[in-house]
Amino acid sequence: MNYILTELKQQESWLYNYHSKMLQSVSTQLESAEKTLIERSKKGHNTGKLRFARYGEYRTFTYNQSGYKFEKYGKQDYLYLSKIGYIEIRQHRMIPGNIKQVIVTRSKSGKWHACVTCYIVESTLNIPKISFEKAVGIDVGIKSFAYDSDGHQTPNPLNLKKMLKPLSRAQRSISRKVKGSNNRKKAVKFYQIIHERIKNRRKDFQHKLSTQYAKNHDVVFVEKLEKLNMVKNKKLSRSIMDSSWGTFVQKLEYKCKLLVEVPARNTTINCSRCGNKVPKSLAVRIHRCDKCNLVIDRDYNASINILQKGLDIFGIGLDMKLPQELREVTPVEISMRSVKQEVAVMTVFSKEKPKSFSIG
Ligand SMILES: [Zn+2]
Repeated sequence: MNYILTELKQQESWLYNYHSKMLQSVSTQLESAEKTLIERSKKGHNTGKLRFARYGEYRTFTYNQSGYKFEKYGKQDYLYLSKIGYIEIRQHRMIPGNIKQVIVTRSKSGKWHACVTCYIVESTLNIPKISFEKAVGIDVGIKSFAYDSDGHQTPNPLNLKKMLKPLSRAQRSISRKVKGSNNRKKAVKFYQIIHERIKNRRKDFQHKLSTQYAKNHDVVFVEKLEKLNMVKNKKLSRSIMDSSWGTFVQKLEYKCKLLVEVPARNTTINCSRCGNKVPKSLAVRIHRCDKCNLVIDRDYNASINILQKGLDIFGIGLDMKLPQELREVTPVEISMRSVKQEVAVMTVFSKEKPKSFSIG
């Protein structure tokens, strides 16, 4: 497709209005999407077909390797994109390395973001020392979002649940408007803004909590999440989707010195003191062991079990998610490690500034 693009440009002159690399990245994306689809269907997954992305659905474009630069005039930062020009931006982070790629996205509510991918060379000498005394086990759940083996619990904010009323009000207002009308578009945008707020609140909460854990602990153990099965539980599915523990674990993974996922088997049932099995339904919040008379919160019990399971892994030295250089305390040879990392995300002013609004 990349070869065809040059010919296509002569037929369709409007294609000249776009940066060549940007057009190529579209076909590359298309190809990789097609490939994954084929691969998945080979593995026996039920795959559909690639769907044409309509104007409103296509919200991203990529500048790869060339066609962009970051500049500063006075106090204002600018992002220059070839064929588009200078755009005022609010740059919230230093760009640490060689920029390889800039991805520009428009969120559903109309805000623009540029995401920068950099190439950084990092020495393995900087690998931090890990102390297992600073290990913690975390149990995630619906009632308390996280309960750790130190006994701290963080209540689940359930951001979606709090916003269900405004959401359904916005939904109703959309359905009252004539299809295709400007008023409907406005109502849809308002609906999207609420959704984005929920998303941002969730992100904010997860970032704060994961940063806290990464600061205070060297090693974090979590359960291997197989909660997707739980989504089938109709009463809980919304709360489970609302919690999104998966993204929380992702954030922990890149912030912590070491994150290990332990198998979730029996973590809620086993007694953390004597190992006695105490089966309980989801409604039972307290763990009561009749063998050793331990009475603690069920999530607390689970988090201690997770910590123990995790430490066991290192005691036995079985298969673990630990890179070679961290296993033994031998002098690490100097080698260069390249990290391709998403390093900077910044807000780009949209032409139409989002209007202020109030909810509830
Ligand atoms: Zn016990």
